[in-house]
Amino acid sequence: MRLQRFLARAGVASRRGSEDLMTAGRVTVNGLVATELGTKVDVDRDHIEVDGVPVKLNQGAVYLMLYKPTGYLTTMSDPQERPCVADLVPRNRFPGLFPVGRLDRDTTGLLLFTTDGDLSQDLLHPSKHVHKTYQALVDGQLTDRDLDQLRRGIELDDGLCQPAICRVINAREAVAVAPQGVKPGTTAVEVIIREGRKNQVKRMLGKIHHPVIRLHRCNFAGLELEGVAKGSWRELTDREVQILK
Ligand code: URA
Repeated sequence: MRLQRFLARAGVASRRGSEDLMTAGRVTVNGLVATELGTKVDVDRDHIEVDGVPVKLNQGAVYLMLYKPTGYLTTMSDPQERPCVADLVPRNRFPGLFPVGRLDRDTTGLLLFTTDGDLSQDLLHPSKHVHKTYQALVDGQLTDRDLDQLRRGIELDDGLCQPAICRVINAREAVAVAPQGVKPGTTAVEVIIREGRKNQVKRMLGKIHHPVIRLHRCNFAGLELEGVAKGSWRELTDREVQILK
């Protein structure tokens, strides 16, 4: 197995991050620094260390979901010591845990965590077209024309978005973004996208002149926030892990 793949599977970092660790000279194989990206390792015989800490293949990778509340950055550490999602998950119990993708600080909802770098890379790769479902409370009355624009694909600064699946939702469905009901002059909308560009949903809705007031992710790759309260986490069931793979 190639060394960077081994490191990703062991949950040290993504494959790309593992390559960076190698080129930075932080990885040794049997005591020798391994900077060559093609380095092959025998997982049963070779002794691999990162920054002097032995790395073993993580046979039991960890998968969990967090119901992210607002006010938390999606990062495992913040130099400015602002609240971050790492504060909400059992990072000491599961070393190597990291979030799969990101949600904005003011976005709530389903954020997946894993120690499985390969799976994370697959879920985030644009070619995999993983579905993400968002509920947005937006300013103004969304018209059929607006919905058509979202369905055709919106032109953003970084290029045309793929068509979104979208529909206006009622107050009962929109409770995560409009707990007090959908006030006149606002609309609750469900938007399903298959890309993961920065601030994508906010930018799409902003572009059609309906700024987002509140945003919530209710589904990621077929998983939903079942049995997990806001600010809490739980491990995925075997069936949920299979859905991801
Ligand atoms: N799109 C956004 O604009 N923000 C998020 O947090 C997620 C998707």
